[in-house]
Amino acid sequence: MKKILVTRKLLKECEEKASKMFDANLNSNDELYSQNNVIEMSQGCDGILSSLTDKMDAETINKLPESIKIISNFAVGFGNIDLEAAKKRGIAVTNTPDVLTDATAEIGILLILGACRRVPEGIQGAKDCNWKWSADYLIGKQLTGARLGILGMGRIGQKIARIAKSLGMIIHYHNRSKLSPDNDNGATYHDTLKSLMSVSDVLSVCCPASNETINLINKETLEYLPKGAVVTNVARGDIVDDEALIDALERRKVYAVGLDVYKGEPNLNPGYLKYKQAFILPHLGSATKETRTAMANLAIDNIEEYFKTGNCKNKVN
Ligand code: NAP
Repeated sequence: MKKILVTRKLLKECEEKASKMFDANLNSNDELYSQNNVIEMSQGCDGILSSLTDKMDAETINKLPESIKIISNFAVGFGNIDLEAAKKRGIAVTNTPDVLTDATAEIGILLILGACRRVPEGIQGAKDCNWKWSADYLIGKQLTGARLGILGMGRIGQKIARIAKSLGMIIHYHNRSKLSPDNDNGATYHDTLKSLMSVSDVLSVCCPASNETINLINKETLEYLPKGAVVTNVARGDIVDDEALIDALERRKVYAVGLDVYKGEPNLNPGYLKYKQAFILPHLGSATKETRTAMANLAIDNIEEYFKTGNCKNKVN
């Protein structure tokens, strides 16, 4: 039986499945392992079921035992893993696409609604019983007819686009490649970020974190937005230069932000906390029972498929 290290606690039925299929070293206390812990605990293991909280950089990967043949990441994003270093060591890396698309898109829409409709202020007012209905109380931005710019029109971006279109938004997007008319659902393609941002009343960041996208939303690119635009990020914190976004909020260049992800999680730039226009969530994208179960099962199945066939459809390196 193959032996695996599971770095984070999974839902109960998924841990049972992992234990049936493998000699699984589980983390029932859900301790956050350091890179050294992961290196030590993976001695004698054939694979690692990692999560986005595990920083698998080149140094860590190079110190993993020879026996490790696969890192199965419990996430669709794999910015936490140095793919090149893994490839050089002959370690396959897999992810969990598709199964988390719907849940994450729901949060993507929530971010748009929360930021546009002044939800942080509304919650505070309601909790404090410090409000009275009036014709101009907490007037927000209506989505009907507003232009939604999607940066990264992949699986999650396309699902957000479909929901937003049903709410009456007009969809624009930027990818490095244009979608076929079968997949774009009538959205307008922009071949540059500048062109996309200049028509985005609301921006939804949905692309992966990569060398190309780190700090892509920065002082210069934020200026491309129309004044009073809303910026939301359901993808990864590394894509946004926080100081620049906070400054744009301060200057009212940006009306509000909706954020699920941050640089250096679980910390976030404290600058956001000063603004009632910041609708902030603690990385809830895929957090539903159905989705977390499906993700863990897929991460387990990826390991099995790889050991059975020497390949895996969700291999990313
Ligand atoms: P996906 O299907 O691979 O879509 C990514 C999209 O981004 C593609 O359309 C891709 O198009 C575009 N893209 C990639 N690099 C780009 C660049 N440099 N400039 C412009 N566009 C670029 O991925 P997905 O399943 O939708 O997931 C997207 C991301 O969401 C993940 O990588 C993950 O980080 C994040 N996520 C967050 C949560 C959460 O809990 N908040 C949950 C799940 C996923 P081209 O290749 O044509 O450029």
